[in-house]
Amino acid sequence: MNTIDSFAKQMVPVDALIPRLVNKRRVAQPVYTRRVVTIAGLKTAKTRFLPVSHEGHGIETYVDKLELLGKTRAEFISRKLKGIERRAHMGLFRELVEQRSGDGWQQFFAAKFDKECTIPDSLCIACWNCSLFGGLEAGKGATFSRIRYFDTYSVEDAADCIAMEGGEEGMGIGNQVYEDVNKARGAETYHLYEYVKAGTRFPFITIIESPTLLDVAGYLHAVRRADEHGYGKYSANHGKFDTRFLVVATGYPRFSVLDMLQWADEGTLESRFAKREVYFDDLNGSVALFGDEVEALAGKLAEAFDEYYRALG
Ligand SMILES: [Zn+2]
Repeated sequence: MNTIDSFAKQMVPVDALIPRLVNKRRVAQPVYTRRVVTIAGLKTAKTRFLPVSHEGHGIETYVDKLELLGKTRAEFISRKLKGIERRAHMGLFRELVEQRSGDGWQQFFAAKFDKECTIPDSLCIACWNCSLFGGLEAGKGATFSRIRYFDTYSVEDAADCIAMEGGEEGMGIGNQVYEDVNKARGAETYHLYEYVKAGTRFPFITIIESPTLLDVAGYLHAVRRADEHGYGKYSANHGKFDTRFLVVATGYPRFSVLDMLQWADEGTLESRFAKREVYFDDLNGSVALFGDEVEALAGKLAEAFDEYYRALG
């Protein structure tokens, strides 16, 4: 059996994603297996990126930053990663449905999950997206998120990777209404913003609990979509990334984002993964995929989705 097959064999069967009837209402109810998959990688900004989780002062916006491991680093919070990737995942899901059903994703969602699922205010709590990312429907019930994100930080020091007042580039100048063509533009709509420069790197770790093959392959594709859509403020033009997946493995990682930052500072981050010198705790014996094996796993998406689609009936 090759490594991809051994990996796939450790996944939870796709039936776990089929919603159950709870009080005549369909709800995603994953089987908790204690199995997990860890995905680790490196995101490199390919445009200006505004990781901003708070309002600035007046017309100025500042990048989130903090002191960590001897540097001031830009902070990329897990909530932002999850929010953008959840939306990208839903876009992917709808497109996969449309490729298979003749009559559009809206009808399909209504038939299989009782309603169209809209993020964030009208979640169905029954679909694949809600099963993975969790959801809450007022007065009806909730599903827990099976995907765990961690905050991450720039490899580079703020002085090098953030365009700020007093720096070489200075702050960026933007127009607060440039995404809305109906609003008038004027001096009062302009603002100044700090931004993370293209080329800045952020290592990341994501963990999926009770993972199906569809969850993992779908996540890999959703990240690529999110990279093109953009993370962060004014994401229509900003915050686009290239993601390199360094490993996809069963089990919990024996390293953290902080370890990855330290390895990057030493210049050994990518070589450690290339040499497969990273370890995972899995009572069944961890199966770890690197490089082209990760691509081959991503290539299983259509096959895994077909199985889910058939199982939904
Ligand atoms: Zn849903």
